[in-house]
Amino acid sequence: MTPQPASKFPFGHELPAEKTPAPSKGTIRILQLYPRDMNIYGDWGNALVLAQRLRWHGYTPELLEYNVGDAFPSDVDLIVGGGGQDSGQLVIQDDLLSRETVLKELAEDGTPMLVICGLYQLFGKFFKTRLGSVIPGIGILDVETHGTDERLIGNVTVSTAEFGTVLGYENHSGQTTLGPGVSPLGTTAKGTGNNSSAGQEGARYRNIVASYLHGSLLPKNPALADFLIRTAVERKYGSFSPGTPDDTYAVLAREHAARRPR
Ligand code: GLN
Repeated sequence: MTPQPASKFPFGHELPAEKTPAPSKGTIRILQLYPRDMNIYGDWGNALVLAQRLRWHGYTPELLEYNVGDAFPSDVDLIVGGGGQDSGQLVIQDDLLSRETVLKELAEDGTPMLVICGLYQLFGKFFKTRLGSVIPGIGILDVETHGTDERLIGNVTVSTAEFGTVLGYENHSGQTTLGPGVSPLGTTAKGTGNNSSAGQEGARYRNIVASYLHGSLLPKNPALADFLIRTAVERKYGSFSPGTPDDTYAVLAREHAARRPR
């Protein structure tokens, strides 16, 4: 049997030919918050997408992790945090509160951040679980969350002004209400999002994008990934010069996700 070349990809795509790498346009430090305890439905993929798209844009990603008890790294340019079970949220709660000041300073200063589901809730004022425990949040976002017996599960489509149609998957018992200090990320065309009555999903504050959507979110939503990247690069280097990301798989993933039933 003739061996297949290693560069053969499914769907007829091939790896681009190796080129001499261009000099890096700069380094962006991405910090993942609590990947050990807050990382479900592949949320870690968000950090991988940011790293790969940074490379495509000609920048060098540095991927850092912060878990309970770690020293908080300096010079962070972009922050991502994932979702977790109520038990994971209980594990991180004290440590997260101890990092309230540094995270608030970074947020107020305009650091781009993506927080998903469980960390979205804890970036808010509190999450009162279905069983009645109140997990205090760090109050960066003017939102509060109440657990209910109704679990909101399924595929979600959100219409947003900033990033077009955002696609993802939700699974949460917490229902989040937005206060006047934040705006919704968008309105839900399919699925529930923040809560079962508002028809809205996620929250926006400064350069923070908060969302219930897993999937992970960024592989299917390159416009959102590039917003976080552009913001991080502009803050650090004054301007952003984009490269040419390969969106082939993102487009296929979006087409597939859009066809999924609720
Ligand atoms: N434990 C929280 C809830 O059920 C968050 C879930 C999640 O991150 N997917 O609401």
